[in-house]
Amino acid sequence: MKPENVTVLGATGSIGVNTLDVIRRHPDRYRVFALCAHTQIDKLFEQIREFAPEFAVVRDAALAAELGSRCRDAGLSTAVRHGMEALVDMAAHPDVDTVMAAIVGAAGLEPTLAAARAGKKILLANKEVLVMAGELFMHTVREHGAVLLPVDSEHNAIFQSLPTDFSRGLSECGVRRILLTASGGPFRTTPRSALADVTPEAACAHPNWVMGPKISVDSASMMNKGLEVIEAHWLFACTPEQIQVVVHPQSVIHSLVEYTDGSVLAQLGNPDMRTPIAYALAYPERIDAGVPSLDLFQIARLDFEAPDFERFPCLQLAYAALRAGGTAPAILNAANEIAVAAFLDRRLSFLGIPRLIEATLAALPAGPEGSLADVLTADAEARRIATSLISETVSA
Ligand code: NAD
Ligand code: MG
Repeated sequence: MKPENVTVLGATGSIGVNTLDVIRRHPDRYRVFALCAHTQIDKLFEQIREFAPEFAVVRDAALAAELGSRCRDAGLSTAVRHGMEALVDMAAHPDVDTVMAAIVGAAGLEPTLAAARAGKKILLANKEVLVMAGELFMHTVREHGAVLLPVDSEHNAIFQSLPTDFSRGLSECGVRRILLTASGGPFRTTPRSALADVTPEAACAHPNWVMGPKISVDSASMMNKGLEVIEAHWLFACTPEQIQVVVHPQSVIHSLVEYTDGSVLAQLGNPDMRTPIAYALAYPERIDAGVPSLDLFQIARLDFEAPDFERFPCLQLAYAALRAGGTAPAILNAANEIAVAAFLDRRLSFLGIPRLIEATLAALPAGPEGSLADVLTADAEARRIATSLISETVSA
C-alpha cells in the first residue's frame, strides 16, 4: 500500500509534535509531505531533518530565507515557503491525502477551508475553525466530499461512541443527548475572589493535559468547553439543549453519548492526545499510538460535578453566542483570542477575559454567517473593538 501523504499545519505545536510522534511509529503508512509552522524555526528544522518533507512553511520571507539556507547547508531538498497562500497550497496540494489542522486560532481557518474545498481527509484539532465558520465549513466539507475526523479528545470520544451513520440525525439514531466532559481546569475549586489575581503561569498549569498556551488559558476560563459546545453542535448537528457539560476532574472519560433506551456509551483512555490523533489518522483502523494501558486500579475513582456558570461565565457566553447564531460565535472567538493574548501579556486580568468578550459582543451586533468574507470581516471588527476596549475593561 502506498503511504498516505500528510500535511501538518501547526507542526511545532503540542498537537503537531504529538502527530509526528504517531507518524514516526508508522513509516510504512504515512509520509510527511509538508510541515507548516509560524516562527519556531529551530524546532521546525529538527522536524525537517527527521521527516524530510517536500515543503515547509513559515510566517514570513525572512524566516523562510533563513530556514531555506539551513536546509541547503544540511543537504536537504525541502522547499521552504511562507505566508497564508503557502499554507493554503499545502492544505490543498493534489499530492496530499490528509491534512492535520493544528494551527491555533483563527489563522487556521483559511487553510483548513482550503483542505475541505480540495476534498481532503481533515483531522481537525483547530476547533476555532468550527466556532468561527461552522456552517460554511460543514457545507464545504459535504459539497466537496471531504472526510472530517475530530481530533479534539471529547469530540473524538463522541465520534467513537456514536453510530457510524450519525449524520442522518441524532434523534433518528436514537441519541438523546451528548455528555461533554470537562476537567474543570486548574481553577476548578478556586473561589471567585481568588480568581481575580491568578497569573498566566497558574492558568497554563493544567492538571491533566500539556497543551499550547492559548488552549491552556481557555481551559482555565472554561471558554475551551464553550468553544467545544459550539464545535459539537456543528460536528454532530445537535442543538445546544442536547449538549450537557459534565465536569470530570480525572479526564479519563473523554465524553459520553446517551441513547433513548437509557444506554450511555463512553470512550475512556489516558489523557494523551496521541490516542485521538492515531484514531483519526488510521480511521476506521486502529494503530499503536505509543499510549500505555489505562490503569483503572491506579485511577480508582471517577468523579462528576455540574459546571459552575457563575465562576466560569465564559461557558455561558459561548452557549449564548451559539443560540444567537450568525457571526456571534466568530465575534466571541475573536474577542477571546484578543483577551487571552492580553492576559498572557499581563495587560488584562483573568476575570477581565469574560468581561472583555461580553463587552465586545454587546458592542458589535452579529450578522448572518454567510461567506468567508462575512466571517473575516466580523473577526477583524471584533478584534478591533476588543483591543480598544481592553483599557476600559482593565480599569473597570
Ligand atoms: P500550540 O500553541 O502548541 O501550537 C500552535 C501551532 O500553530 C504552532 O505550530 C504554531 O507555529 C502554529 N501557528 C500559530 N499561529 C500561527 C499563524 N498565525 N499561522 C500559522 N501557524 C501558526 O497549540 P496546540 O495546543 O497544539 O493547539 C492547536 C489547536 O488544537 C488549537 O486550536 C487547540 O484548541 C486545538 N487542540 C489542542 C489540544 C492539545 O492538547 N494541545 C487538544 C484539543 C484541541
Ligand atoms: Mg478538548
